Amino acid sequence: MKQTTGIDVHENDRKSQCAACRTARAARKTLRCTVAAILWALTVTAAPAFAGDVESIDGRSSTQPTTMAEKAGYDETFEVPRISGALYPKIHNKLQQAFPVAVDHLRNNPECRDLFAELGADGLEKLSMTLYRQSTMMLEKRFCRGGAAAFTVIRSPQVMLCKRFASLGTMQAATLIIHESLHYSGMSEWPKDPQGLEPREINNMVKKACGF
Ligand SMILES: [Zn+2]
Repeated sequence: MKQTTGIDVHENDRKSQCAACRTARAARKTLRCTVAAILWALTVTAAPAFAGDVESIDGRSSTQPTTMAEKAGYDETFEVPRISGALYPKIHNKLQQAFPVAVDHLRNNPECRDLFAELGADGLEKLSMTLYRQSTMMLEKRFCRGGAAAFTVIRSPQVMLCKRFASLGTMQAATLIIHESLHYSGMSEWPKDPQGLEPREINNMVKKACGF
């Protein structure tokens, strides 16, 4: 008569635990692959804009995300930016101030609209379709170093805002909003594109063409 021993039970538990371990390892591997894929996609362009001329951020007041995630379509209130998720209050305020300024400068400066036309895009339409998001802590460390205030994957409508965005002047922020919209429209950037302009060169081009 076969005896059911404690060892059998132990063996079964161990097999069960190993199966659980394998499942957990597979899940972790999948997560690592997903994170790696996201990071790879975002390295297409990280725009270190206004590298030398940003002010330090007041971290205390930038730690509480706002729940005021306003969304507006092109046909509703175009001068209100489309926001996905929560933004830190100072970033939210800066975006609300600078976005209509960017729209205004784009409307009133044909050379500014030509920057988009050369890419086969309509600048006002691109601004109306852009989705602004708060950079996560992980992405902040990866892409917001070196003075970057925002970054955009080329041809992506999603612009990630770094904490540093809050410290920009309104005109600087408006310039950056147009700069990122140019990436959305397909403009590449050095060094990812060896033929592309440097971030500061794109800023200067925007300032000149858009009357900032
Ligand atoms: Zn850029």
